[in-house]
Amino acid sequence: MAQKDFYAVLGLTSKATADEIKKAYRKLAKQYHPDANSSDPKAAERFKEISEAHNVLGDPQKRKKYDEMRSLGAFDGFTRARRGASQPRGGSSINFEDFDIGGLGGLGDLFGSMFGGGAKQRSRAPEQGQSVETMLDVPFRTAVLGGKVPVEMEVSEQCATCAGTGGAPGSSAKVCAECNGRGVLSFVQGGFAVNRPCPVCLGKGQVPSEPCKTCAGRGEISSRKKVLITVPPGTDTGSKIRMKGQGGRGRNGGPAGDLVIVFKVKPDRFYTREGLDLVAKVPINIAQATLGSKINVKSIDGKKVSLRIPAGTPTGKRFRVRGLGVQKDTARGDLMVEVSVSVPEELSEEQKKAMEEFAAAGGLKY
Ligand SMILES: [Zn+2]
Ligand SMILES: [Zn+2]
Repeated sequence: MAQKDFYAVLGLTSKATADEIKKAYRKLAKQYHPDANSSDPKAAERFKEISEAHNVLGDPQKRKKYDEMRSLGAFDGFTRARRGASQPRGGSSINFEDFDIGGLGGLGDLFGSMFGGGAKQRSRAPEQGQSVETMLDVPFRTAVLGGKVPVEMEVSEQCATCAGTGGAPGSSAKVCAECNGRGVLSFVQGGFAVNRPCPVCLGKGQVPSEPCKTCAGRGEISSRKKVLITVPPGTDTGSKIRMKGQGGRGRNGGPAGDLVIVFKVKPDRFYTREGLDLVAKVPINIAQATLGSKINVKSIDGKKVSLRIPAGTPTGKRFRVRGLGVQKDTARGDLMVEVSVSVPEELSEEQKKAMEEFAAAGGLKY
């Protein structure tokens, strides 16, 4: 029933004078007036179209704007938008948002001023709630090995009293009076049929005869809850998980958005991470560094690892232990043991003497 071309409705071309428009309107209005056509429901529709066309074309200001839109190809756009949008949106004739995109700058304004608030229609379409992003601190070891982190958060759950129906126990479903059970409300605006989901029944077409008291008819309740967030093994700072439907509430019957949890891995006092490799800094003394030694290191999952340090190992030297790094999916990093040679801050007389002898034997100047 959406009419695109007001001139065609009145059987005129866009060159019609104000007088011709007035005459055509009077003639057609008389012909299709509902009083004279009480047996023909189509006449009432037609009469409405004629009135709307005259309402715009009969007003020089409105006609000027209408002509501008027409010349911009706005009504071709409507035809396309209508076809494209009607099926997935459950029979909606026109979606104004489909229209507002693209290079037709200023058209939204035109439209709004012409039909009174047309641009506001966007707020009535069902909208998915916003995705909410939140940062979660994770201990280093939990991030590497995987585990669970408790958090307190707002959770929406199906109402247990009414099992999500929104009706009080024992109540029955009745046809929504707002939309007569259609689930959508349509209204004519400036000659265009617009459908939107019914805000009372949220598009279901039915409402409970008595709303559930626990959830006030919403079918779900939200509460603050302790939730255990599963941290997958190999999680790094910036890794995300998405919890479907736990984000912002949808509008006009749209689904809730998602909650996106962004992990932030806390530093560890022993390990750092380089990609999938774990780096462990291990102090050794100068005797170990110069004479060689066997040292014990613990892997991140608590295994004891024995490592040979060869004689003459400088500080900062790294030893790779294969397979003891971060496991992520099928990839596995290594453990890098980085030694740091600690130099004694104080020497006893005996140590000092020995060191002097050591220097003299090697010809070291100091
Ligand atoms: Zn309930
Ligand atoms: Zn309804």
